[in-house]
Amino acid sequence: KKEQLELLATVDAVTKDGVQLRLAGNISSVKELDMVLKYGAQGVGLFRTEFLYMDRSSFPTEEEQFEVYKLVAEKVGNETVVIRTLDIGGDKHLDYFQLPEEQNPFLGYRAIRISLDRKDMFKTQMTAILRASHYGNIKMMFPMISSVEEVQVAKAVLNEVKEELDQQGVPYNRNIPVGIMIEVPAAVMIADLLAEEVDFFSIGTNDLVQYVLAVDRMNEQIAHMYHPYHPGVLRMIRMTVEAARRVGIDISVCGEMAADERSLPLWLEMGISDLSMSPQALLKVKHRALNTLASEARETAKSCFRHRTSTETEEILTAFAGRSG
Ligand code: PEP
Ligand code: MG
Repeated sequence: KKEQLELLATVDAVTKDGVQLRLAGNISSVKELDMVLKYGAQGVGLFRTEFLYMDRSSFPTEEEQFEVYKLVAEKVGNETVVIRTLDIGGDKHLDYFQLPEEQNPFLGYRAIRISLDRKDMFKTQMTAILRASHYGNIKMMFPMISSVEEVQVAKAVLNEVKEELDQQGVPYNRNIPVGIMIEVPAAVMIADLLAEEVDFFSIGTNDLVQYVLAVDRMNEQIAHMYHPYHPGVLRMIRMTVEAARRVGIDISVCGEMAADERSLPLWLEMGISDLSMSPQALLKVKHRALNTLASEARETAKSCFRHRTSTETEEILTAFAGRSG
């Protein structure tokens, strides 16, 4: 079975009736990049940079980061690499960076909030990313955005870094695309406003589900309530897609929902063709796409949007995935 799937690495991800998908890989280490390349992914849709900061005793230097970003961009070649700025806090901690004890860490000092608070650290990372953008097709992405102001401040910091590089005559891609994760409900509700500020959205369903449903993604006791197919979640995703489409920016999905092949009808119905997922899931999702009729899948998804419960939707999607090849 595994060998059979591996034969799909060089095959295009296209449905039986010709709808083309772009499947990219999520990476949390350079080692995972090898798997992404081996499985024929179309670039890296989410480069989680946290690993560069973990298992060490101090912040990584600009040079250390630059080397890794450059290496990844070069290995990926013509495809794109979406580098997400640091997303610590919540469940991710650094030994050398004391985070406050919090009642609700996922609602606390996390991700872009830390970056905007620690501009020195943020600028070091941005400088490394910009320098690497000279060597490949890099996009920059900010995690956990919840307001237009955050995006504006982050972009202002980016401009400062660009000016510094200009002064030093260091080459970089001055048109580097800048995007944000859509993973906080407020971001969905103001997606039309945010879309005016950035080049692309990537929907982070792992956090979006936890925040929309108020279900801690780490809490075993309520894990049964963590429902990606909850109508509230599906509506949020659809709103985001519609806002992106109206303004004309790119949109992708990079949370675990993208790795669940049963979700494919939902993406086809909403017109999402860019998915990024853990490398292990790439061939499985491609296999499902190759065995799916988009026209049929869309009808199935339409009925999902009419259902009132996650259970019904999950049953329908599971049955559809089981039926179509
Ligand atoms: C997400 O929240 O869906 C996501 C992709 O990011 P992470 O899992 O790293 O929070
Ligand atoms: Mg997230």
